[in-house]
Amino acid sequence: MRPFFAISAIILLSAGCAVNPVTGKNEISFVSESQELQLGSEQYLPSQQSQGGLYQVNKPLTDYVTEVGQRVAVVSDRNLPYEFVVLNNGVPNAWALPGGKIAVNRGLLVALDNEAELAAVLGHEVVHAAARHGAKSMERGVLLQGVLLATSIGASNSEYGNYIVGGAQLGTQLLTQKYGRTAELESDYYGIQYMAEAGYDPQAAITLQEKFVKFSEGHEQGWLDGLFASHPPSAERVAKNEATVAALAPNLRADLTLGTARYQSKIAYLKSHQDAYTAFDQANTLASSNELESALAAINRAISREPREPRFYGLKGDIYLEQGDYSQANRYYAEAIKRDEAYYEYHLGRGLAYTRLGNREQARKNLTRSNELLPTAVAMNALGELSLSDGDTQSAKGYFQTAMSAGGTLGQAASIAFTKLDLAENPSKYIGVEPRLLEGELTAIVTNQTPIPVSQVDITFSVTANGDRLQRTISLTELAAGQRLTTGSGFRFSDTDQVESISVTVTRASLQ
Ligand SMILES: [Zn+2]
Repeated sequence: MRPFFAISAIILLSAGCAVNPVTGKNEISFVSESQELQLGSEQYLPSQQSQGGLYQVNKPLTDYVTEVGQRVAVVSDRNLPYEFVVLNNGVPNAWALPGGKIAVNRGLLVALDNEAELAAVLGHEVVHAAARHGAKSMERGVLLQGVLLATSIGASNSEYGNYIVGGAQLGTQLLTQKYGRTAELESDYYGIQYMAEAGYDPQAAITLQEKFVKFSEGHEQGWLDGLFASHPPSAERVAKNEATVAALAPNLRADLTLGTARYQSKIAYLKSHQDAYTAFDQANTLASSNELESALAAINRAISREPREPRFYGLKGDIYLEQGDYSQANRYYAEAIKRDEAYYEYHLGRGLAYTRLGNREQARKNLTRSNELLPTAVAMNALGELSLSDGDTQSAKGYFQTAMSAGGTLGQAASIAFTKLDLAENPSKYIGVEPRLLEGELTAIVTNQTPIPVSQVDITFSVTANGDRLQRTISLTELAAGQRLTTGSGFRFSDTDQVESISVTVTRASLQ
């Protein structure tokens, strides 16, 4: 009963042989360059949303990261429409989607010491895109499974991140995957070449790896589920980077830079507001353990330290939503949206608050906007309920069907809501019948294939025998979830009867 989502980019029709632009090796490829580009541009925005949205407070930082990224990308072996963004996410991490769409979390930026280390991070990600590592993972998946099915993945520190639905699931899957050891070493190796060619001192790639090893030994919070989940640091990587830099040494440019002063000046604003984000993280933790008053106190501290950060107002709205104070919730969602309109969580929260307040029009408007930014099962289910109470069954079915692709309790709830609506229209999809001849009587084995009890099930038996066409409908009062029973039709045949055709169909079913 799970819907099949046709994701255009993974309809793979033909395989070709191509030279990898970075390594120069011949390899079989199923995912064409145009598919890579399409995938990257389709998945970039939902992937940003699912990972915290853009860091907006200090836009010059994003401009700066873009500038460093482009400086490295321009010397890469593959001309792609590279883009770089800074995400509003405290987990130290960076990722690249196929087609050169790259992101770095603010949580990683504050851990770096100079521009060359940033170039090492971005160079590494540029290689992932240029050398088709994401595309190759998809191809491996395709080779193993025939079809790559997007599944629900918990990819974000956000409450709703587990419930991404539809095509956006694919992006989440791509950016949380592990490329494997070979791809990581390849990215380190060519990333170092690129950063050096772009004018950065490649020693920074070594100091960066050493720093990562130190953090991993100290089990630094955030790193293990962030960057280290996909990029395990190791003495091997440090040693390989040292060898790569040593081999480059004779041919290095004379004007290499670490860019420490420049980096420190660009990161100063974010670093000087770290205490605000620490208070925000505390508020998040308190809110998720339902200590709402303490969460409010923490988020107020964050806001007083950094009144320009939209995320803080969004969380304050979430806390009031949780407390059932919907007007206050809306007040703070509005403050968040005023500062950053393009982040789904504020619209989702406001849509839920308006639903509770009974303002259906505003509820629908906000939930729809939330889905435009990132489709979630939470918003789909809420929209489904709204459509249902408007009597618009068809729209409701559409929302529930989309929400079904999410895992967990929300996906299950959607699945049940959808089945309830669809059952009356298509009873034979849910109730199985198999005709049997039992001691001369035409019978049917009837199975309720749904996880819910079904009532008023009509089974229609049609028989053409001895030149007569006969029909009879048997009504069953109730079938429990998964129940299987045999029902007679009253039609009996002897050896002398000429039976031309028999059909048994479910003609009606409904729910209590
Ligand atoms: Zn990597």
